[in-house]
Amino acid sequence: MTPHPEAELRPNISDPSCFKLFGCILECQGEAGTVKFCVLASGSSGNAALLATENTRILVDAGLSMKELRRRLAAIGEDLNCIDAILITHEHSDHVAGLPVLARSRDVHAVMYLTHLAAPAIDWGETQPPRLEPFQAGASFQIGDMEVQSFGIPHDAIDPVGFCFAAQGVRIGVVTDLGYIPESVKFHLRRTDLLLLESNHDLDMLKVGPYPWSVKQRVMSRVGHLSNLGMSDYLIEDLDSSTSNLVLGHLSEQNNHPAIVRMIATQALEQRGLTTRLSIAQQRSPTEVFQY
Ligand SMILES: [Zn+2]
Ligand SMILES: [Zn+2]
Repeated sequence: MTPHPEAELRPNISDPSCFKLFGCILECQGEAGTVKFCVLASGSSGNAALLATENTRILVDAGLSMKELRRRLAAIGEDLNCIDAILITHEHSDHVAGLPVLARSRDVHAVMYLTHLAAPAIDWGETQPPRLEPFQAGASFQIGDMEVQSFGIPHDAIDPVGFCFAAQGVRIGVVTDLGYIPESVKFHLRRTDLLLLESNHDLDMLKVGPYPWSVKQRVMSRVGHLSNLGMSDYLIEDLDSSTSNLVLGHLSEQNNHPAIVRMIATQALEQRGLTTRLSIAQQRSPTEVFQY
């Protein structure tokens, strides 16, 4: 009798290590045919987002402690031990605070992707992480069944990047921490189905707010953070009608308010006649899980 084609994939239960491995693979399997995205945290106190297909799970940034990452992933039915890769946008602490601990953990198997220039800027502790995969900013590469395109962004970090992901015909763009949106970034964000975009500060609130002048200048500069106005200009002039979900994030807690961001973005979308669904990512709790 010819064995079923999947027979070879079944665990040999007489071998405990094999059983353990297959148990993990089964536990880590996601829903067939869907691409999921969730912003776990967004803002200057910590950033992380999950992107998952049936077979591949990616975190973008690890700006939360391992414990908090584990907790927020569990809240949406995901397991930190099942993450295949962690992609880092840049070395600022709100994007990498949990990374050295994750790198040392025996339970976490994720390969860590940082640019060649950003990787040495991380304080890894005594040993370099064993699962480090440096890449060139601007490079495209494959992780499992996801295509990843990285691209440089204007921000006051060593080698900051944004990402565009493609899987099963779905395109997801992730771009925060940028002073403005250059044409090259607009190009990469075309034809996205979901876009996570920064809307950091309200210019008037920033100007009269509590930050020292030097910090205000930094935030407002071409290598600082995208203002509500910068976000709105992009929506009015460039947002692709293919973007069914727009998630605005990295809001300043001091110099912005979700209600202001929502009002400005809604006006911009109405001006364009777009029916794009709008969500605001928060610092303290995950967004809904977007599914395609
Ligand atoms: Zn940041
Ligand atoms: Zn930053």
